[in-house]
Amino acid sequence: MTTEAETTLLQALPGGLFIDGRWRAAGDGRQLAVHDPATGRVVKLVADAGPADARAAVDAAAAAFPGWAATPARERGEVLRRAFDLLRERREEVALLMTIEMGKPLAEARGEVDYGGEFLRWFGEEAVRVQGRYGANPEGSGRMIVTQHPVGPCYLVTPWNFPLAMTTRKVAPALAAGCTVVLKPAELAPLTTIYVARLLEEAGLPPGVVNVVTTSTPGPVSEPIIRDARVRKLSFTGSTGVGRTLLAQASERVLRTSMELGGNAPFVVFDDADLDTAVDAAMVAKFRNIGQACTAANRFIVDRKVVDDFVSRIAERVRGLSMGRGTEDGVSIGPLIDDRAVAKADHLVSDAVARGARLVTGGQRYDGEGTFYPATVLADVPVDSEILSSEIFGPVLAIVPFDSEDEAVKIANDTDYGLVSYVFTESLSRGHRMIDRLETGMMGLNVGAVSNAAAPFGGWKMSGLGREGGPEGIHEYLQTKYTLTPDP
Ligand code: NAD
Repeated sequence: MTTEAETTLLQALPGGLFIDGRWRAAGDGRQLAVHDPATGRVVKLVADAGPADARAAVDAAAAAFPGWAATPARERGEVLRRAFDLLRERREEVALLMTIEMGKPLAEARGEVDYGGEFLRWFGEEAVRVQGRYGANPEGSGRMIVTQHPVGPCYLVTPWNFPLAMTTRKVAPALAAGCTVVLKPAELAPLTTIYVARLLEEAGLPPGVVNVVTTSTPGPVSEPIIRDARVRKLSFTGSTGVGRTLLAQASERVLRTSMELGGNAPFVVFDDADLDTAVDAAMVAKFRNIGQACTAANRFIVDRKVVDDFVSRIAERVRGLSMGRGTEDGVSIGPLIDDRAVAKADHLVSDAVARGARLVTGGQRYDGEGTFYPATVLADVPVDSEILSSEIFGPVLAIVPFDSEDEAVKIANDTDYGLVSYVFTESLSRGHRMIDRLETGMMGLNVGAVSNAAAPFGGWKMSGLGREGGPEGIHEYLQTKYTLTPDP
């Protein structure tokens, strides 16, 4: 099943830790196996770092910081721009690597290269726009100078579901701001991050500015980094549970943090929506990345007057989706990341059906090779079903009917999460009311995907703290200093 192109790509990829500009084995020689979820086979062994390797990475990031912080912003931006150009040239290779290590269909992986690459370009441009301010104080007795400074060495922790975009979304603003980083990708899909580190090296990044530690033991490796006084910022993307653990550790040093955590996105379809638009958007919002996105629509809240029409249109589209390895033509449902993800999807579907939900299509576990779960549609899902309160992270579309705008809002907001919401209506005033009433950091108004390098991505409530992307994104890596000086 593995083609020659895949073998060549995997063999050329370094398997070591990237510390201080060198690729090297873990101190104790341990290795971590990376699997292709479509086949279950091991595709690559990479170094499995322990706490001593983590310390070495922090040493390198701390030593490189003064030099990188003092490098002119234009030069820092140019390194990012060169990395962007290289990434664009190697689009096919990077896309294939992502499909191999986490299963997304190749067409989507190409889309992620485009989206993820934009962070390199955007922040390469933003680097030169960091400004302070200067002015007289209100009393007229002094001058106030406000300046921005890089926070220092940062610890960046990323998930497996968007291995490229989650890496560039953190690394690019950090480097643009003048910070150095220790990067820890997820153990399930670390290869793309290794690829990006090599690309940055090729783009001319000095040694020690970016360091990568791959590990199968993220807890013991992360804790000493978070507790190290030289590290000044933690940026984490992953589950709310792990985010809370890291926040507790970070609180001891009052460490600056950004947290991009889980979601439970409502997808609200009003009776005045353009249903063709809503159905197209639903397919994207639900099935992109095989449902394994923090922004995935988790609850379809549909006006009872149009729900039957919506269910039948969706079911027809879903029955046409084909499942298989992401490298095969026409596949849109690749494997889930592992057995646990399959068991979770299966459990959530069984629970909803046991409570009275109607299984419209899918829902049968697949017993062949790889960790697949079929695209599934559930209608009339009772509001107490577990599927409505947990992140599904799989290709299961759950529909709940509603009878009034107030009820739709109540259901939509009835969650601890607040990352993104999707709203479908042709009414301008209703659209504006939803902007005011839905408790999420982002909203798709008649669209099913919102991510953009130029926009502030982030959540309300337990979906996180801070923003990535947009002009806001670089400020996560800057600290403000105010200086007062007497009038001359
Ligand atoms: P996860 O929380 O299991 O892991 C995320 C990262 O944390 C990985 O690198 C992992 O190795 C590391 N980690 C795990 N335990 C740790 C510990 N004790 N100490 C330090 N690091 C630890 O999440 P995941 O399964 O990789 O990703 C899926 C989750 O990520 C979902 O909840 C999804 O919503 C969320 N996510 C959020 C965003 C966002 O921008 N809000 C984007 C993508 C994914």
